[in-house]
Amino acid sequence: MTTLRVAPHVHSEWSYDAEWSLPRLARLFGRLGYGGVLMTEHDRGFDQGRWEAYREACAAASSTSMVVVPGIEYSDSSNLIHVTVWGCEEFLGEGTGTGELLERASAAGASTVFAHPGRGGADRAFDAGWADRLVGVEWWNRKYDGYAPRPDAGRALAAHGPVPFVGIDFHSPRQLVPFAMVLELDGPPSVRPRSRACWRRCARGGAAPRSSASPPSGS
Ligand SMILES: [Zn+2]
Ligand SMILES: [Zn+2]
Repeated sequence: MTTLRVAPHVHSEWSYDAEWSLPRLARLFGRLGYGGVLMTEHDRGFDQGRWEAYREACAAASSTSMVVVPGIEYSDSSNLIHVTVWGCEEFLGEGTGTGELLERASAAGASTVFAHPGRGGADRAFDAGWADRLVGVEWWNRKYDGYAPRPDAGRALAAHGPVPFVGIDFHSPRQLVPFAMVLELDGPPSVRPRSRACWRRCARGGAAPRSSASPPSGS
C-alpha cells in the first residue's frame, strides 16, 4: 500500500483564469511536501484534442516524486454546479448537465467530486440521486468558503455518503493553504497519461481517500 498526500483542486495556465504553468506548480507543491497535485482545469475552451495535449503536459510535468494528475472541473450550462473529474480518457464536454456528466464519468470508471457546494446555492440544486456517483463533496473550499467551512453546505451533502473533501481552488498564491487529501494506493502512482491514473487505481481498489483536515467537533 502506497500513501500519497496530494494537493486537491488546483488550476494552471490551462484554465482561462489562472496563470501558473504545470512545471511551476509541480515544483511549488513538491517543495511543500506533497507527492501529487489533483488538477482541476475549467472545461471552457477544452475539446478532446486539447484534453489529450493537456494530459501529455501533466505527464511531462510529473516526476518520480510528484504526480500531476490531469483533471477537469466541469460546469453545467448555467455555471451553477461544478464537478471535478479525474481518471476519464474522454473529454465530457462543456456545459454538460450534471446528471449526464456523472453518469458518463461513472461509466468510464472516473472519480468525481461536487465542488464548492456553498457557491451560489449549488447545494440547494443537489440531487440526492447523484450521491452514489460521487466519490466526494468539497466540505471546505478555500476560495469560496474562506477561513472556515460553511456548516450548512458541504456537510449536509457529505451526509449522503460522498467523502468530505477539502479544495484549495488554487488560481494564484493568494489561495495557498496547506490543505491535503491522502490517497491510499495499491501500488506506486503512475505518471503516464494512457496508463491508469493513480486516482482511478485508488478508486477501483476500493481505497477511500480521506481529508487531512477534520471537521471541528461540537459545532
Ligand atoms: Zn469552481
Ligand atoms: Zn476551481
